[in-house]
Amino acid sequence: MGSAKRIALLGPPGAGKGTLAKRMIETWGLEHLSTGDILRDEVARGTDLGLKAKGAMDAGELVSDDIIINMIRGRIESASQGFLLDGFPRTVAQAEALADISELDAVISIALSRDEVVARLTARRVCGQCGRIYNLAFQPPADPTVCDACGGDLTQRDDDKEEVISNRYDVYAESTAPLIDFYRGHGILHEVDGSKGSAIVFEAVTELLG
Ligand code: AMP
Repeated sequence: MGSAKRIALLGPPGAGKGTLAKRMIETWGLEHLSTGDILRDEVARGTDLGLKAKGAMDAGELVSDDIIINMIRGRIESASQGFLLDGFPRTVAQAEALADISELDAVISIALSRDEVVARLTARRVCGQCGRIYNLAFQPPADPTVCDACGGDLTQRDDDKEEVISNRYDVYAESTAPLIDFYRGHGILHEVDGSKGSAIVFEAVTELLG
């Protein structure tokens, strides 16, 4: 992949960041640093951090910048083979803090309209065992409650309920979308159309970074 190995993914919830991230780490051996996954794990384990984050997550709001930056800093610093940031940074303050921790080689912004976000997220199901992501409309499993890959239970994330999704999109548009211009200004932004589906998005990214 050329020299680009410190990468961040931007995009509204449901744009396909998680699915794209899985393919990118399999292909390029990068460390996958998903702040959403780390937080969900903290919540599941009932840690102090999880308890602090849960209220904001359930409401579709952002967890405070301080918590997020402290949580991710060490992981970025120890990812010596390169990293793929998924769900971070999400505010200009986080992007500025990140700039003090590490440079980035590329930022990939996946675009998706509000209507498509709502349609996708209400149909999203996640395997509780292996983490595989399905969509009941576009990539349905054989049985809507069972993972094709490992037989684990498929569940809906609490924040994928319809009433929370709309708020998550608003939060993205207000707090995170300004990062598109921020990184365009740094000359490292690449934009892809998320409505094309995960295979085409991955091809586009391979071409951009390959
Ligand atoms: P995600 O899986 O990336 O959609 O994240 C799920 C939830 O975790 C978000 O709706 C936020 O409440 C929280 N979260 C994840 N990453 C961040 C971040 N970088 N800054 C603030 N909150 C975050």
